[in-house]
Amino acid sequence: MRIDLHTHSDASDGTDTPEQLVQAARDAGLDVVAITDHDTTAGWDEAAAAVQAWERAPALVRGMEWSTSARAEEGDPDRPVSVHLLCYLFDPGSEAIVSELGRLHGERTRRLRVMAERMVADGIAIDVDALFADPDRVPGRPHLARALVDAGEVESIAAAFDGQLSPRGPYYEHKRDTPIGDAVRAVAEAGGVTVIAHPRARTRGRLMAVEHIEELAAAGLSGLEVDHIDHAEEDRDVLRRLARRLDLIVTGSSDFHGEHKTVGLGANLTAEDQYCALVERAHGAGVIPSVAATGRGAHRGSDEEA
Ligand code: AMP
Ligand code: FE
Ligand code: FE
Ligand code: ZN
Repeated sequence: MRIDLHTHSDASDGTDTPEQLVQAARDAGLDVVAITDHDTTAGWDEAAAAVQAWERAPALVRGMEWSTSARAEEGDPDRPVSVHLLCYLFDPGSEAIVSELGRLHGERTRRLRVMAERMVADGIAIDVDALFADPDRVPGRPHLARALVDAGEVESIAAAFDGQLSPRGPYYEHKRDTPIGDAVRAVAEAGGVTVIAHPRARTRGRLMAVEHIEELAAAGLSGLEVDHIDHAEEDRDVLRRLARRLDLIVTGSSDFHGEHKTVGLGANLTAEDQYCALVERAHGAGVIPSVAATGRGAHRGSDEEA
């Protein structure tokens, strides 16, 4: 089974609509795909409808990647590190989650506007309001990166992250994320399961303290994302050993962002037994099953339309 548990649509910083994401997942030969936009479940319904309308689309795991903060491995203990928490199959109507996501959206908007306005004040010609024109889209730095590319300020999105968008650069503004323990608890209370995304992606900055991962494992965390493009082989080994010691599920994914990143769907995958263990623990929302090829689906796959 080809199982990819971490992808983004244009509900956050991917470039495919949720429907296009499902189609791309089908074309990539995935059996299971998870939609995990940053801090939003807004793409869930459209993705679910696409899976139900298309024969042999992959099964859909409805998820989210929550922006959280955690204790750092080293350095100033009062300066938390940003950690992405993958959350799956929880009740999206949970009041605690809905209200915290509302705060986060406000914080993301404030933060991106501050960064964009600093750039404008510095003579960079970007349209700040255009970043927020779509009220259904959770704004993120990739949108500002795209604006910088379009304005001819930088050659690529990756270069924008190394330059103008870097935490070490002059335009950076911090955003106040949710303490990770609060997020793990809220998702568990909403019937979902949690997996720390790319826990050793070093290029993103300092790493989270292992002791903090141990604490979360005891408090209901279900897994660690190990096979991810931003993880070196040695770090994958470290994480596999840690997962075995703490009895955590191991996942893998592409972290697909459409044209905002170069990685393709299915670049890394999750083992079937690990996927089943994850689904068994969740009861807040079900997996949307794939529709078998009957020849009678609302839409048949393009390779069948001879
Ligand atoms: P934000 O959540 O607004 O702080 O933006 C972080 C997002 O930027 C991540 O989720 C990635 O999608 C994206 N990102 C981070 N680093 C890079 C990079 N070097 N190249 C492309 N996208 C990146
Ligand atoms: Fe992203
Ligand atoms: Fe992430
Ligand atoms: Zn992601």
